Amino acid sequence: MNTATKPEQTAVEHATYEDLCLYIDGEFIKGGGRKEQDVLNPATGQPIAKLPHATREDLDRALAAAARAFETWKKSSPLERAKILRKVGEMSRERAKDIGRNITLDMGKPIAEAIGEVMANSEHCDWHAEECRRIYGRVIPPRLPNVRQMVLREPIGVCAAFTPWNFPYNQAIRKICAAVGAGCTIVIKGPEDSPSAVVAIARMFHEAGLPPGVLNVVWGVPAEVSDYLIKSPIVRKVSFTGSVPVGKQLAALAAAHMKRVTMELGGHSPVVVFDDADIDRAADMLVAFKFRNAGQVCVSPTRFYIQEKAYDRFVARFIEKTNGIKVGSGLEEDTRMGPLAHYRRVPAIQSFIDDAKKRGAKIEIGGTQLGEVGNFFAPTVLTNVPEDSLVMTSEPFGPVAPCVPFKDIDEVLRRANSLPYGLSSYVFTTNTKNALAMQNGIEAGMVNINHFGQALAETPFGGIKDSGIGSEGGTETFDGYLTTKFVTQMD
Ligand code: NAD
Repeated sequence: MNTATKPEQTAVEHATYEDLCLYIDGEFIKGGGRKEQDVLNPATGQPIAKLPHATREDLDRALAAAARAFETWKKSSPLERAKILRKVGEMSRERAKDIGRNITLDMGKPIAEAIGEVMANSEHCDWHAEECRRIYGRVIPPRLPNVRQMVLREPIGVCAAFTPWNFPYNQAIRKICAAVGAGCTIVIKGPEDSPSAVVAIARMFHEAGLPPGVLNVVWGVPAEVSDYLIKSPIVRKVSFTGSVPVGKQLAALAAAHMKRVTMELGGHSPVVVFDDADIDRAADMLVAFKFRNAGQVCVSPTRFYIQEKAYDRFVARFIEKTNGIKVGSGLEEDTRMGPLAHYRRVPAIQSFIDDAKKRGAKIEIGGTQLGEVGNFFAPTVLTNVPEDSLVMTSEPFGPVAPCVPFKDIDEVLRRANSLPYGLSSYVFTTNTKNALAMQNGIEAGMVNINHFGQALAETPFGGIKDSGIGSEGGTETFDGYLTTKFVTQMD
């Protein structure tokens, strides 16, 4: 692992990194005495750029621009919207290397994962371009022959969106495509820790010909910006991706002002491996999936329930494969796991491990920070983990895999469903009865059986219980951005 800071590398980072700015009413804005914050490279801890914060006047201007633009954008043809969305999809693919490299610089993930994030999620542009042409209403048979009854679906209005740092391109493009495709306008606050991808997205929409004010990008202190935007009478809809506690705060604020919400919140996804599964294949797939993006994924597998007979074999294979993960700077080609996205995640992950250890868990591998430069953390496997330990009950959001045995299907379903989370879940079995019982019994928004197949543009992504409200992607994607109007007319 190479975590040393290289001065010459920092100079290159400065030269090629995104020119960070606000995007308001079709203008890219920075400077002017605005407060700025350092953006740090999590692999080196060094600043790579300065991010301007929006002033109160900037926020007001963004809101006013979004309100003004809505008056024309809501009447735009879906063909016009589709054309712009498609163009942005093409540009994203063309620019994926540069956008991906900048994500690696400000977020830390391996460059192949970062470019893959942009390439794969450019499809949201294509999907929303296609689906926006199918925002249908309906005609309801009337009770009288001279009456016509219709249901119209209309764009809800100005949206406020807040997106996190773990998938800076993916999380933002989904919300922007849904709003823009539905005929809404949007003010988005991206992740201040990893802002380059959101600025890159704004540039592409700008170049693709999106009218001024339809998309606006602001930065600042998250709680201050969200409080101001959500309370504004201009905003009609709030979309947030992030943690459960923050999601609950924002949803409560939105409810107080009677605003629609989409909430994509945290999870604590159970993995259930039955003893009839292909154990080696399951372990190999799960190691790759668990440590992707250093486990900083809302759908990361976080509780590993292995049926008793297969437990020892699974754990041995899982540890062996985890041991082979190369941790290092995301810019190095053979790196499989980069640093945690920012320093505050290091003590957060350590506290989960320390708590488990205190309660009698065994650290099979990892368990500590790596090196003294950057936020590197060792991929960690825990066994003998008590059910009430922090890592089994709160979302760890990091490279930690607690493995525990189970006896039978009723027991594992009860344990899998025992938490307030309900985002994703994973099952490995060759027995169709087990598969059916799990897909019917698991309380989760997504169930993956024998593979990982979620988060495609054409499939709905979202959680139940504390994990959120609403779905992104799939034919459901516009539901949160449209209102229903009933029209009845008599001759
Ligand atoms: P955090 O809860 O402070 O922040 C998480 C995200 O929410 C950040 O992008 C932050 O800018 C934003 N945020 C925080 N408070 C906000 C507010 N009042 N208004 C608007 N946005 C706000 O924690 P963190 O240390 O940055 O991240 C760790 C936790 O965040 C994890 O435990 C995980 O649960 C959650 N998280 C979830 C996702 C996801 O995809 N669901 C992504 C990133 C982080």
